Amino acid sequence: MLRSLIRLPSAANTAAAAAAAASAVTSVSRRGMSAVVALSEDHQMLRQMCRDLADKELAPNAAKHDKDHSFPKAQVEHLAKLGLMGITTSTDYGGSGNDYLAYAIAMEEISRGDASVGVIMSAHNSLYCAPVGKFATHEQKKLWLTPFASGEQIGCFGLSEPGNGSDAGAASTTAKLVGDEWVLNGTKAWITNAYEASAAIVFATTDRSLKHRGISAFIVPTNAPGFSLGRKEDKLGIRGSSTAQLIMEDCRIPKNMLLGKEGEGFKIAMMTLDGGRIGIAGQGLGIAQASLDCAVKYARDRKAFGKPICDLQAIQFKIADMNLKLHSARLLTWAAAQKADSHLDFTEFAAMAKLAASETATFNAHQAIQILGGMGYVSDMPAERHYRDARITEIYEGTSEVQRLVIAGKVIKSYA
Ligand SMILES: Cc1cc2nc3c(=O)[nH]c(=O)nc-3n(C[C@H](O)[C@H](O)[C@H](O)COP(=O)(O)OP(=O)(O)OC[C@H]3O[C@@H](n4cnc5c(N)ncnc54)[C@H](O)[C@@H]3O)c2cc1C
Repeated sequence: MLRSLIRLPSAANTAAAAAAAASAVTSVSRRGMSAVVALSEDHQMLRQMCRDLADKELAPNAAKHDKDHSFPKAQVEHLAKLGLMGITTSTDYGGSGNDYLAYAIAMEEISRGDASVGVIMSAHNSLYCAPVGKFATHEQKKLWLTPFASGEQIGCFGLSEPGNGSDAGAASTTAKLVGDEWVLNGTKAWITNAYEASAAIVFATTDRSLKHRGISAFIVPTNAPGFSLGRKEDKLGIRGSSTAQLIMEDCRIPKNMLLGKEGEGFKIAMMTLDGGRIGIAGQGLGIAQASLDCAVKYARDRKAFGKPICDLQAIQFKIADMNLKLHSARLLTWAAAQKADSHLDFTEFAAMAKLAASETATFNAHQAIQILGGMGYVSDMPAERHYRDARITEIYEGTSEVQRLVIAGKVIKSYA
């Protein structure tokens, strides 16, 4: 079923993807990717399609977008053609209708090629399309989901503020109903895709006395009166994606732009982040895999003391640890995705997957630089970019500390 929903570009490419899937076992065992968990033929085809895109188009352009801080427009358009900008959105609204496992697999491969493209895809799919798909009315979806799921338009998600990130319930942005319009005032900080987005999901308080229960979610068109953007942040990594403030000064949107019910915003944000964490786990896996690939290839070629450095036990132990952490994080990510696909509570698993994959991304990128020595420290090789890109995966969509709080909370409650 899944295969029929993935938008493959042409019959020729379908045949190519099928042939690639047939040989997937070879490439899988080379990278050791699914020796334990068998993927369906459809998931393998999707992975091969994303892997080809990553190798042929994303990785070769990643350094340029990182250096220029430029949006990878052609690459994102290619993702859209393949149905990846609406990967889990229902086919009723122009999406590809795939499951979370497909999403995790695609996010890993895309991020392996370019982690900036990965976060653009992730913020758009899991932070914009997913809550609109889940909570919007049919009328809202026709306007605010269909053109987004096709990738024609890009969406973003405004939860964090300059004064609060982890403590999302303390939102100070306000929304007041005046006649037939909501009037929003406040600033959202660090918003991915801010410069490209045509609409944002914005969380604002309609009743401060109710604390987090007074927060509501809104679909805010970025051309609404009173809406503007801050400067583009100058970031350590994922520099191909834009990050900026959303500034609302008496920003007026029609009454029917409320997403879900009034006061439901905090719940919408938390449910959205559960799904988003599977995407960021996929991004972490992609960076971790790219770091391992780069390190092993280099270690096989580079000679020291008359032999390849991969013959040195000190290097072998690093490779073993990188591989171990990568596999562990991937199994957790796929388990979280499968729980979500089975409609089970996946909050704890999504947090564990995101925590494991993001810390593995940082670990593997760090070790790769060590294995490459001086070559790891310069931009001739991708290792230093992986290192810079990895760091954010431990911060956004809940820091590692917040993931630990979520996991511990679930574990302790389960003993009650
Ligand atoms: C590049 C980038 C892209 C982003 N994209 C988006 C986006 O698209 N949309 C969006 O809404 N936000 C986005 N963010 C914001 C991101 O989600 C927040 O930065 C993150 O949640 C942390 O919030 P903060 O920066 O305010 O840190 P704080 O919440 O101030 O935390 C600072 C430190 O204190 C720790 N801490 C805080 N509370 C606790 C606690 N209770 N227990 C233990 N430790 C704690 C944190 O773990 C952290 O180490 C993005 C951020 C960046 C940098």
